Amino acid sequence: MLKVFLTLLFVVALSFAQLRVVATYPWIGELVKEIGKDRVSVYVIAKGTEDPHFVVPKPSHIARLRDADLLIAQGASLEVGFLPPLLQQSNNPKVQPGREGFLELSEFVQIIQKPASVSRAMGDVHSEGNPHYQLDPHNIPLLAKALKEKLCQLDSKNCTYYRANLEDFLARWEGKLKEWDKGLEKLRGTKIIEYHKLFDYLLARYGIVLVGTLEPLPGIPPTASHINNLVETSKGVRFILQDVYHEKRTARYVAQKLGAKLVVLPHDVGALPEAKDLFSLFDEILRRLQ
Ligand SMILES: [Zn+2]
Repeated sequence: MLKVFLTLLFVVALSFAQLRVVATYPWIGELVKEIGKDRVSVYVIAKGTEDPHFVVPKPSHIARLRDADLLIAQGASLEVGFLPPLLQQSNNPKVQPGREGFLELSEFVQIIQKPASVSRAMGDVHSEGNPHYQLDPHNIPLLAKALKEKLCQLDSKNCTYYRANLEDFLARWEGKLKEWDKGLEKLRGTKIIEYHKLFDYLLARYGIVLVGTLEPLPGIPPTASHINNLVETSKGVRFILQDVYHEKRTARYVAQKLGAKLVVLPHDVGALPEAKDLFSLFDEILRRLQ
């Protein structure tokens, strides 16, 4: 009798076992919550306020990776500075690159600004092209679908549930996309400068013109000669787009010199308090660009 009871308990426990997912960035974690809901647990490595290129590795990250069933990374070399050592120390074969428990989302979108040859020459941190593809809201449905496929592959008994969550998410997203498209299309032809090549997918989607960046190269801090040259050669710039994690002094100086408006934009969920989920991330970007 006890044996039957214990077996039953085991079966019940199995059917309620959550898939343990680790995501490198908050926006990925939000997508996992949308599709996986109560059938998954999510742990996010980076904070929304951190520079995504330079996330600080911690022992707690290793512990979570050790127990993970699935690791979801942004890819395109964005995590190259911190994820390989974390993965190695986790000693979890399930989530290593190339294994079933590893998903790299960059494979499902068109990566822009791919260099002819892969190199990190002169410190360029975009050696495999621009990795900040989550900032085109039209990319999110492609990534949601890829995520649902992976969850179904690892946890087939809940596939119908994941598919229903995906359909529900896509319906809500398509509705908001119309609103964002309408608002952001008004910026077509607007000239901007940004600190880092962080918002290029958003700019490309809505025909916003990138005049220059405060960094001379992605990952290289502004220099006096580069900034002077930028100020002298740039005309008709409306916005200086600034991320939340770099110094704002240079952007303030350039904005004042050019008569442009300094706008701090969230690049991820949690970068600013208003960007509390994937939907409000784009709501806030649109609101700040009015
Ligand atoms: Zn970057």
